[in-house]
Amino acid sequence: MMVLQLKAQAFPLPFPTEPARDPDAYIYTKFFMNHCCYDAIPTSSKLVIFDTTLQVKKAFFALVSNGVRAAPLWDNKQQCFVGMLTITDFINILHRYYKSPMVQIYELEEHKIETWREVYLQYSVNSLISITPESSLFDAIYSLLKNKIHRLPVIDPESGNVLHILTHKRILKFLHIFGSMIPKPRFLQNRIQDVKIGTFKRIATVQETATVYEALSVFVERRVSALPVVNEQGKVVALYSRFDVINLAAQKSYNNLNMTMREAIKRRSCCVEGVLKCYPYETLETIIDRIAGAEVHRLVLVDEHDTVRGIISLSDLLQALVLTPAVMFIAASCFRSTKI
Ligand code: ADP
Ligand code: ADP
Ligand code: AMP
Repeated sequence: MMVLQLKAQAFPLPFPTEPARDPDAYIYTKFFMNHCCYDAIPTSSKLVIFDTTLQVKKAFFALVSNGVRAAPLWDNKQQCFVGMLTITDFINILHRYYKSPMVQIYELEEHKIETWREVYLQYSVNSLISITPESSLFDAIYSLLKNKIHRLPVIDPESGNVLHILTHKRILKFLHIFGSMIPKPRFLQNRIQDVKIGTFKRIATVQETATVYEALSVFVERRVSALPVVNEQGKVVALYSRFDVINLAAQKSYNNLNMTMREAIKRRSCCVEGVLKCYPYETLETIIDRIAGAEVHRLVLVDEHDTVRGIISLSDLLQALVLTPAVMFIAASCFRSTKI
């Protein structure tokens, strides 16, 4: 198992009591420690791989036409996978090179993936983060959260082949399918306002009158995965996630980032109807069921006036239900052995 470097006290727990005394505290931690990444791989799924000499524009079109969100990058010279291409990369390229609707984004038209990586890797993750099929799902969750990424390729160490790309969503789905075999922890009945799992301060939002370019700037500067879209009265009216930005490639509208958010949301194809929200008095169980049922990455926490009060993302839930109890467990074991 990897060495845990996360500080437990910095994160909330799903139960307000002393975890060492709560028999339910480690249910999910143990569940994910006892299952490996291979177990969470679906029997059939689509995988697209890009050679780093492919033009970036073609790569983003290929993501759209194949209906996938990310692809591992193969470097033919090094004969290995060197990274991932995700919608965040598309956002970064648009944000960095966009000038105006009158000027074509030359770099998007001309750059190869490898050219873009030379520019971008000075500022970010610079090697592929992957996991083996035998590693535990606990290790996968740890890697996703510690590295703040949303795509974790599972690579067979013998063949070097990518078997699947794990995500928070897939891991939650695995828990939903097989979690019925484990007892339901009582802390799931706690209300979100009591356990405070999520982000409740400095929520990044965007006005519906803002431009798409302004929304991309928030994605780049705040590194958040989605923005609640608010109207003039401050009510949440939509949600614009990084995933939605791929519509600009699908509709070839990436040359007009001066379009308003209202327009971009209207033009979006195959998106979730309305905003998936939750309220402070709702229980963890209700929230997890809603996220899993709708297959989204987060819910927007609102008050009775639909004013945004927080974000509860799969990262927050996995942190609180799986990683933080593990840190507490290790801390409690150390304390016990010191006493002896
Ligand atoms: P998205 O939410 O758009 O799918 P991520 O948050 O996973 O994207 O990606 C953030 C950045 O980290 C992107 O530049 C992406 O290329 C990079 N990245 C994502 N996953 C990995 C990985 N497993 N190894 C290395 N880099 C990655
Ligand atoms: P990913 O699979 O890349 O994590 P997301 O869950 O962020 O993707 O987004 C997938 C789709 O679901 C997007 O169209 C996004 O706008 C929509 N979506 C995600 N979360 C919500 C939400 N809370 N309310 C409404 N739509 C949402
Ligand atoms: P995510 O990238 O959604 O997996 O979430 C990583 C962290 O960012 C979590 O703690 C989220 O609660 C937080 N977060 C996500 N979206 C926002 C947002 N729009 N504003 C502030 N924090 C956010």
